[in-house]
Order: sequence, then C-alpha cells, then structure tokens
Amino acid sequence: MISSIRLYFLGTGGSWPTPQRNTLSVGVRINDEAILFDCGETAQTSLMKSSLSLMRIKKIFITHFHGDHFLGLPGLIQTMSFYGRTEPLEIYGPIGASTVLGNLLSIGYYSLNFEMRIEELKGSGSIDFGDYSVAYAKASHTIPALCYALTEKDYAKLEESKIKELKVPRNLLEKIRKEGSARVNGKTINIEDISAGIRRGRKISYSGDTRRDESLLDLFKNSTVLIHESTGDKTNQSKVISYGHSTGKDAGIQARDSNTKKLILVHFSPRYNDIKPIVDEAKSIFPNVTAAEELMEMEVNIND
Ligand SMILES: [Zn+2]
Ligand SMILES: [Zn+2]
Repeated sequence: MISSIRLYFLGTGGSWPTPQRNTLSVGVRINDEAILFDCGETAQTSLMKSSLSLMRIKKIFITHFHGDHFLGLPGLIQTMSFYGRTEPLEIYGPIGASTVLGNLLSIGYYSLNFEMRIEELKGSGSIDFGDYSVAYAKASHTIPALCYALTEKDYAKLEESKIKELKVPRNLLEKIRKEGSARVNGKTINIEDISAGIRRGRKISYSGDTRRDESLLDLFKNSTVLIHESTGDKTNQSKVISYGHSTGKDAGIQARDSNTKKLILVHFSPRYNDIKPIVDEAKSIFPNVTAAEELMEMEVNIND
C-alpha cells in the first residue's frame, strides 16, 4: 500500500540550463522508492540539494533524447556507482533508447558496479509495478517522444466494525484486498463483506515535450497532478508549435479537458526572463495552476 507520494522539481527549464533554472527532471517518491521523469544535465546536483536521496532511485523514465531531458544520466549513474550502488537501475525510454544509452554509457573509462536494464517502449501501453503502474503514449514532438502517467492502484477501504464482527484476522486483510477473498474459520470472507468503498488512486501525469494533442487526453484523464510543459506564450505561438511544444494556454486546455485537478507548469523557454505571461495564459483557461520552481517539493495527498 502506498502511503506517501511526493514530487521533487529538480529542473524546471527547457532547452538549456541558466543560472535560474536547470533543465528538466522531476522526482517522484512513492513510500521509500523514487523514480525520475527525465534527467536534465544538472539532475544529480539538484538531488543533492533536495531531501531525496539519489540512492532511492529505482527507475528512470526518459521522454525523449533531446539533451535537456537526458544529459544528466551519465553523471548521475557514475555517482550512484561511487556511492556503492549494487542494485540494478531500470531506464525506460522511447524507440532508440537502447542505442543512445548504450553509446552514452560506453564513452570514456566508465565502469559500473551495478546492472543497467534499458527498456524501449513502443507505441502506447502500461507497465504494472505492483502498487502502481506507469502508462505511456506518443507525444506530438519533432522526434520520437513519450508522455507518461503514474497511477496508484485503487485501494479498498475497510469497515472496522465488519472486520470485528466477522472476526477476520489482521494478517489476512492484505490477502483479501489483493485476491478478493480468504478463508476464515472455514468460511469464505469476500472483500464486499468488509469493504467501505474504494479509495481512488492518485495519478501523476508528465508531458515531457509535446504540442497540445487531443490524443493525449486519455493518458492524462483524471490526473491528480498534471505536470505539463509550457515553453512560451502567445507572442511566440507559431515558433513554439513548430518546435513541437505547447504554450501556457495549451497546457491549460489539456488540464481542463482531461479533468485534471492541479496543473504544474514546467519547461519554460530560457528566453523568458519573466514567465508570468505563460502562467497567466494557463490560468485564463484553468484556475488551479502552479509554476514549478527549482527544488520545489510537493506532497500529493489522497484527497487532493
Ligand atoms: Zn525539452
Ligand atoms: Zn524536445
């Protein structure tokens, strides 16, 4: 069962790093495990400044192989090795991931004490990790790119009075949750006998780089938090779209039309000294908007 989900904004800018913003990387801590969405070149130093230990990272999901989304990998992986990691690291990415990452990790005199498991994701689909799953779908960008959505499994809430009444031992509750039933004193107890309804799982969607595209609404549907790129505003709209990106307004429309609860904007073009026009555009469409700041952390609560 997942108790805590916490977000770490390790890099919030697009294209290239500036003194104000690092390139994109978002950490998600799920209980004691952490995953990364993208790994911009300064991700490891941001991790060191944050309260998220880089040794907790089990999986890294790369959206695409533009430098601002993956150039932090070789340094981060090298540091994990220096820190004594022996546990395998899983890296997921779009088509071409095996070649790009294979090349990246064979430069110089690179030696690792742990196994890298690289998985190329094709088309759209979902990977089951037990308490949560990560779905992916094709982004509308200039090169092969994916968007992701992490969804916590729905969870049956239990009615204390019924558990007592039916004398269900505590150690069988998880089994009943997972398998739907268990034998107790010669009788079958079904989940319906002790259930007090369903707690909907939290959902974190992450766009990487993409134009606004209606085909992504299914992936983003009912997100608790949608982390969406917003490279520019209407004054640069045609450029933004031609480079395969979204404006603040586009991000707002995606949040509204996917029935998202909270929109967090990332991937601001470094050409903007002031991102207010981008944020205001999103807010004109969708009210619950936050502009990500470097090293911002956020708990995603069950009732958010
Ligand atoms: Zn980018
Ligand atoms: Zn890109």
